[in-house]
Amino acid sequence: MMKYLNTVVLFLLVLGGCGSRQIVVPEEAVVLVNGRVIDGSGRSPIPDGIVVIKGARIHAVGVRGDFLIPEGVRVIDARGGSILPGIINSHTHSPADAEGRREFLLEGVTTVGNVGQRLDQLDEFEPESTNDGPSARAYWAGPIITAPGGYPGPVYGFEYCWEVATASEGRDAVADLLDRGASMIKIALAPGDPRNPWPVLDLERVQAIVDEAHAGGVLVRAHVFEPYLVEDIVLPAGVDAIEHMPFPILTEEEETSVLEAADPCTQLFEVAATEYDSLLQRLVEQDVVIVPTLDQLVGRLYEKPEKTAVEQIVIDVHLETVRRFHALGGRVALGNDYANVGIEAGMPIMEMTLLVEAGLTPLSVIEASTREAAVVCGQRKTLGTLEPGKLADVIVVAGDPLQDIQAMREVVVVIKGGELAYSKD
Ligand SMILES: [Zn+2]
Repeated sequence: MMKYLNTVVLFLLVLGGCGSRQIVVPEEAVVLVNGRVIDGSGRSPIPDGIVVIKGARIHAVGVRGDFLIPEGVRVIDARGGSILPGIINSHTHSPADAEGRREFLLEGVTTVGNVGQRLDQLDEFEPESTNDGPSARAYWAGPIITAPGGYPGPVYGFEYCWEVATASEGRDAVADLLDRGASMIKIALAPGDPRNPWPVLDLERVQAIVDEAHAGGVLVRAHVFEPYLVEDIVLPAGVDAIEHMPFPILTEEEETSVLEAADPCTQLFEVAATEYDSLLQRLVEQDVVIVPTLDQLVGRLYEKPEKTAVEQIVIDVHLETVRRFHALGGRVALGNDYANVGIEAGMPIMEMTLLVEAGLTPLSVIEASTREAAVVCGQRKTLGTLEPGKLADVIVVAGDPLQDIQAMREVVVVIKGGELAYSKD
């Protein structure tokens, strides 16, 4: 036994000593070195990492010292910065044409998810198989499936809706959208003003939509704010993601007591606590992803240099909702609802900033902007993390976003599908 162990130790020493354990990079590869690799999975970074790209895909990821780079291999020097997956903005109403998405790509957003578009615009999206060229990839849901007369029709126009009156119409709508190339399905569960509500899909129709979508291998994402609709429809139907977020709803009496409290936000969640937290807990257990779209909901208020007491409460309640869900282990994906007024194109810095304000670590914000965003866009297997086999959408930022998320403003290299799309110099 002792002799055997000694032999093993000797063998390892010899291998380590002469460096033959190094993995040889293929000559036709492109490598990124001299940076910390943040792979998008939520794992700790590799301080001195390497990403090896072969053709359009990632070939290997690891510790720089484990790889031997032959002469002739193209080397991209990250100069001590950070190497990440391309950022994915999973909730936008981005332009269908490639030219309109160019700005996204050049700022490091290699993919956008479009969760609401007119039927007549769908032809402008490139088919998924040829989704290349110098603009961000786009994956889309098409028109939002809703009840006849339902949201978003009354606000944005019925050309953005696919109205379904029955379960069978719901199934047909999904089948038709998948035929056209949809990568996900978006539904609206929005009663609007309770005094004059819009019609909302019932459980039977949503169940039919979810079943048809899942049979076709795509996820269903629901625009919803009301906890009772999460309880009555989202959870029992098996909807996969919530766009925006459910807030605690209080009785008039409770609302008065909350607004009179010294710290209204804390008071609000105390009043709502048991029931509301159990709802969030069930979302976590059912693995429902939330795309909070904080920029759309409170970004303009957050930017105001001076806020009224009520504005501050509104901001606090939104952030607290995300904080609670995330603290329970809930999965968050980044989306900023771009194309709405005041929402930035390109790198979604405000959304990232607000997610940090809501208690996510910068590492979790990056995971939300890469892996989780890929999941809700239906691209779990192809995008979102730096791992062998995935499409080589890779960016370099100059600093360390794990120290300060604002470093995401300084994107110096963008690679899409293995091709250099942008380099600062
Ligand atoms: Zn939206």
